[in-house]
Amino acid sequence: MTIAQTSMPLEKTQERNAIAKQYHWNVEALYPSWDAWKQDLDKWGREESDPHWPELAPFRQTWKQSPEKLKELIELCCEIDRRLSNLYTYAHLRHDEDVAEETAKKAHSRIVTLLYAFRQETAWIEPEMLQLPEEQLDAILKSPVLNEYAFYLEKIVRLKKHTLPAPEEELLAMAGKALETASQAFSAFNNADLKFPPVVDGQGNTKELTHGKYLLYLRDKDRTLREGAFKNLHRTFFGYENTLCELLNGQIHRHLLEMRARKYNSCVEAALFPNQIDVAVYTALIQAVRKHLPALHRYMHLRKEAMGLDKLHLFDLHVPLVRQVEMGMSYEDATKVIIESVSVLGEDYQRALNQGLTQDRWVDRYENARKRSGAYSSGCYDSMPYILMNYHGTFNDVMTLTHEAGHSMHSLLSRRNQPYHYSQYSIFVAEVASTFHEELLLRHLLSQAKSKEQKAFLINQKLDDMRATLLRQTMFAEFELKLHSWAEQGIPMTPALVKTEYRKLNEEYFGPDVYVDDEADIEWARIPHFYYNFYVYQYATGISAAHALVDKVLNGGEKARDAYLAFLSSGSSKYPIDVLKLAGVDMRTPEPVEAAMRHFNELVTELGELLR
Ligand SMILES: [Zn+2]
Repeated sequence: MTIAQTSMPLEKTQERNAIAKQYHWNVEALYPSWDAWKQDLDKWGREESDPHWPELAPFRQTWKQSPEKLKELIELCCEIDRRLSNLYTYAHLRHDEDVAEETAKKAHSRIVTLLYAFRQETAWIEPEMLQLPEEQLDAILKSPVLNEYAFYLEKIVRLKKHTLPAPEEELLAMAGKALETASQAFSAFNNADLKFPPVVDGQGNTKELTHGKYLLYLRDKDRTLREGAFKNLHRTFFGYENTLCELLNGQIHRHLLEMRARKYNSCVEAALFPNQIDVAVYTALIQAVRKHLPALHRYMHLRKEAMGLDKLHLFDLHVPLVRQVEMGMSYEDATKVIIESVSVLGEDYQRALNQGLTQDRWVDRYENARKRSGAYSSGCYDSMPYILMNYHGTFNDVMTLTHEAGHSMHSLLSRRNQPYHYSQYSIFVAEVASTFHEELLLRHLLSQAKSKEQKAFLINQKLDDMRATLLRQTMFAEFELKLHSWAEQGIPMTPALVKTEYRKLNEEYFGPDVYVDDEADIEWARIPHFYYNFYVYQYATGISAAHALVDKVLNGGEKARDAYLAFLSSGSSKYPIDVLKLAGVDMRTPEPVEAAMRHFNELVTELGELLR
């Protein structure tokens, strides 16, 4: 397979009906028409009826009478949920094909309303279960009748000791909306109210600065533009540092309240417990990354030399080190390269993926007027694992296609091998298969690269990607842990304290070759993820697990491959840490993260040699 040297020309956006059917995703496989969708909606949605699913209500009295009754209830819920998912998937795919199209827009909003209604009409089930006296609940759950739902029920019952008596739960639920104020206010401020002053580039042109344009400017080779964007953006946040510090403080105190009310030992434990992730996973990540920070320092040194700078500023970290090497290709060629790149996963895997990306039409390939931007993998138990793309043939598009294809294969295998109630994998493992695909493709392209420039381009891309996903997110995770520990100890959070802590982390992570500009001290104030409650570490663990697994599968023969496929096939039939263990990676030890960092270090050496 040769790598095309030119990308596809960007044409004027076409209307959807001008693009041949063979390039559209095969939504007809789910419903042949809106009429068929409507028939199913009438059968399962019953929009006119209140409640929509009256057959659920009698179970409120009868479910605890016998394990058989509970099983009947679970199966009824799964069946309704499954049908609603089909209806939702079709409506959301059709809506994304043309976001202005009325039929799809209305259908989408109808089904979303029904999904909320379904959640409401089933909201009593878990609290009722948890309120049952322990012996009685145990007797029901231990029945062999419920064998196939044992783990499903265990996950619910696990939360019992952190569930409060009903009146207190109701009170907490009532406070829920008010407790969202900090994060809602931050979001409104950051997305709607905040405006940045324009930037002047190296030629003296004035340019608009927005969140969306910020990263584009940071990647620009015009250093004046980069510096201006970096400074203008962060200086704007400085103007609101007291307000932004209070908002973040408010969010952290929400986590603190919930942690104390539910009797956890720490905020981080409260956030990780429902998925049975040990706090040790979190701290092991930080320790392992810290141990290997010299690798990042080496990369920063290399970057400084390669860019010929006396001082490497934070606004110099995103610009590509290699002048743009064009490594784009057509969709057809990309598919071929992707299929080749996953050969280590075996012929069955290749065949299934190839069929999905070509004949079966999982992918809605090309952009059309009013199509949703970006890319995703989506679908439901009874559908194909559809992929939305806006494929233009750039190198990034090729990487995106294999990323989404990784998600889709994970979905396909989990759905094929698991019953409905275990078919959906958790967020903790969600980015593993996609990153695994990216890594395989990158190694494949590297093995075929024709010039030093192409090699350097690929390695530089990879290093910047790992820096952003593994290193930066771990620094965020460490910062987040610190802020919560202050709250737990009653240490007041002030802008001065937060800025000092953030600077310290920046200096330690980036090392002696990076000049940490004063503007960066406020960066924390613009990161929405700090309102998500210990979310970001999963980016770092996900990419680390994927790297460890690529090495294992490439070097471990059939056994390692089968273990990886077993992981992809396991959905949510075990806790996330346990499904990863199936694949042969134990995220409770620092080894996977350390291996990823060692790989980062090797890539720095390789890039250094290529750039010499
Ligand atoms: Zn993804």
